[in-house]
Order: sequence, then structure tokens, then C-alpha cells
Amino acid sequence: MFVEPYLHLPNQRGWIEVICGSMFSGKTEELIRRINRALIAKQSVSLFKPALDVRYDAQKIVSHNQNSLESRALRKAIDIIDYGKNSQVVGIDEAQFFDEELLEVAIQLANEGIRVIISGLDMDFEGNPFGVMPQLMSVAEFVTKVHAICAVCGGVASYSYRLSDSHEQILLGEKDLYEPRCRACFLAGQREEQEKKIELEWAAHKN
Ligand code: ZN
Repeated sequence: MFVEPYLHLPNQRGWIEVICGSMFSGKTEELIRRINRALIAKQSVSLFKPALDVRYDAQKIVSHNQNSLESRALRKAIDIIDYGKNSQVVGIDEAQFFDEELLEVAIQLANEGIRVIISGLDMDFEGNPFGVMPQLMSVAEFVTKVHAICAVCGGVASYSYRLSDSHEQILLGEKDLYEPRCRACFLAGQREEQEKKIELEWAAHKN
């Protein structure tokens, strides 16, 4: 469990934390937990999320088990500076959907003495690094990777396996669209899809 290393040391104010993992790994849960602790410590907090994430509620950050905090939905990462610069703590959810300027924004806020807590998907549904997350993980003082449970075998899952045929990188959805999988079950699913595709192509060819 992550424990804040220097919440009350005057010389250690600004830093970056990244919470990453697959879908259903508890990332947002962990972000909310840390923000709540900052609130208990009477720190001023601002929360942001990308405007395109409209699941659940446009003005709230809501985790899968319905914990929620007020947040501001923004289209551009750069706007986080204006809205967040007077806070002691800035939280950012679904960071993989923000534009790449989020890297500079996070660095600038941390340099100005703000604790920046970022939560996001580290990989997309094809298992590739997602958006600006890899860069954020590089510059963060603290990176926490959380894991889900594989929906197929019950192992430790770090992949978000897409159950639909769509190949868009951004496809928002819930349990009907994705399930967490371990590496082996993720690869098995990809192989199955590939075989299905070849079969369909053959069938079309024969007709
Ligand atoms: Zn598995």
C-alpha cells in the first residue's frame, strides 16, 4: 500500500505519482483513496479528467465500485494549469486520454510545489503503451502498478482484453466491452481472434 513519503515536510512539496494498470485494477479507487487522505490532511485538492470520458457522470470521478469525488472535465491538458495551480494537490484520472502536453503540465505543476497524482491505463487493448502514460511514468517519483484478476483463469491480470471486434484505440465501455486478462489468456484470446478471422476469410473466399 502506498504511504505518502513526505506529506508534511516543508522542503518536499512538489512531486509526481503515477497509478497505472489495466481496466478493473482499482486505479481510480487508489486515486480516490489518496485524494481522500489529502483532504483529511486539510490540503486543497483539484481533480481533473479528460472531457471525452463521459462514463457514469460528467463532473465526477467515479470508480467501478461507485466511490466518487467532484472533478472538472477538460478537453486540453494545458487547462489543468489554470484550474489547478492554486491547489496543493492535483489529481488526474484517465490520463491516457489527455493529449501529450500532459507531460509538461505535470512537470510544471510539480516544479511549482504541487503534488500531482495521475491515474491511467498503461496499455491499450492491444497491449501497447497508451498515450502519454509511458512518459509520465518516466518522470514520476513514484509509480504504482495495480493489477486486476484474470477473468479467464483467476491469475494476476495486467491486460485489458477487448471483447468487441472494434479496432479503435479509444472505445469507452464497461464490463460488456472489456475484461481483465493475464498475459497467457490475453495472447490466447488474440490467437483465437486471428483464427476466427482467417476462417471467415476462407469462407468468404469459397463463396
Ligand atoms: Zn489468465
